[in-house]
Amino acid sequence: MAVLVCGGAGYIGSHTVLELIDMGQNVIVVDNLEKGHKSAVGGAKLYIGDLRDSEFMKKVFTENEIESIIDFAAYSLVGESVSDPLKYYHNNVTSTICLLENMKKYGVEYIVFSSTAATYGEPENIPILESDRTLPTNPYGETKLTVERALKWADNAYGIKYASLRYFNAAGAHISGNIGEDHSPETHLIPIIMQVALGQRDAISIFGNDYSTPDGTCIRDYIHVTDLSTAHILALDKLKKTNESIICNLGNGKGFSVKEVIDIAREVTGRNIKEAVAPRRQGDPAVLVASSEKAQTELGWEPKYAQLETIIETAWNWHKSHPNGYNDK
Ligand code: UDP
Repeated sequence: MAVLVCGGAGYIGSHTVLELIDMGQNVIVVDNLEKGHKSAVGGAKLYIGDLRDSEFMKKVFTENEIESIIDFAAYSLVGESVSDPLKYYHNNVTSTICLLENMKKYGVEYIVFSSTAATYGEPENIPILESDRTLPTNPYGETKLTVERALKWADNAYGIKYASLRYFNAAGAHISGNIGEDHSPETHLIPIIMQVALGQRDAISIFGNDYSTPDGTCIRDYIHVTDLSTAHILALDKLKKTNESIICNLGNGKGFSVKEVIDIAREVTGRNIKEAVAPRRQGDPAVLVASSEKAQTELGWEPKYAQLETIIETAWNWHKSHPNGYNDK
């Protein structure tokens, strides 16, 4: 029996594939390699193609005995989703709907779905609970929430059991330094800071210093990518044991401002990281911090790399040894 990892060549997907392989699981990866990297997949069996291609997916489902699915395949840039929402609906919603149709067709019962803190929009309370209002402020969050709703109805009608995991800010790299974050273009805070530390960029732009936070910059909850991977694997176990769907936040429950992240990166790297204040980025809430109590009690999840210093150390280790990322495009 195999676990199918959709988007397994991407950042969080590849870290999860590695954990599954280390556990001795049979892993099948589907990725169209539009964003993912072939070299990130390691020893897993890779099918290169699109979830919306029914002939291609027929091959994947008939050639393997798939018992469960972890679905990471999606676009995830908030800004791009605002400027090109249909691209996001087509990829993030249609792809997962096609996957659910195949689950129904081939009798696969369990799916762990990558959701996001962006499903909440502007938070009502900090820390954010799973029961809080979901009101996305951008198409990225909206597409993820749309899939969550489809999952609920697919469970109701076909008995497909799902775990929807709402990530806060995924960060860091595998402790081995062999796989890490490589986006093109890069838009995320920590990898951009690493590029400044490496001398590949002049300065990190701070998107707004007039928020109502102690130092005026946005506060986020950074969670190590391997801790996210572990949560996916625990969620799959939980689904199989209880046969009950679940929605969980995944974060550390502690927020850091953009300035604090830059300061910690200066300490970790020992490099002079220049900063410059830039205008606010559209759609950025001032503070996003998770309550992860539910994941801890329901999944038995405990973040292992909770310290931001450790998260940044692992990122630095990856970026130093791979200054041009995977370099496989
Ligand atoms: N950010 C920033 N400069 C950058 C990139 C990001 O100031 O070059 C800020 C951004 O406004 C947000 C935080 O860093 O408050 C984290 O942004 P990122 O894009 O990494 O993740 P997001 O919160 O959008 O998921």
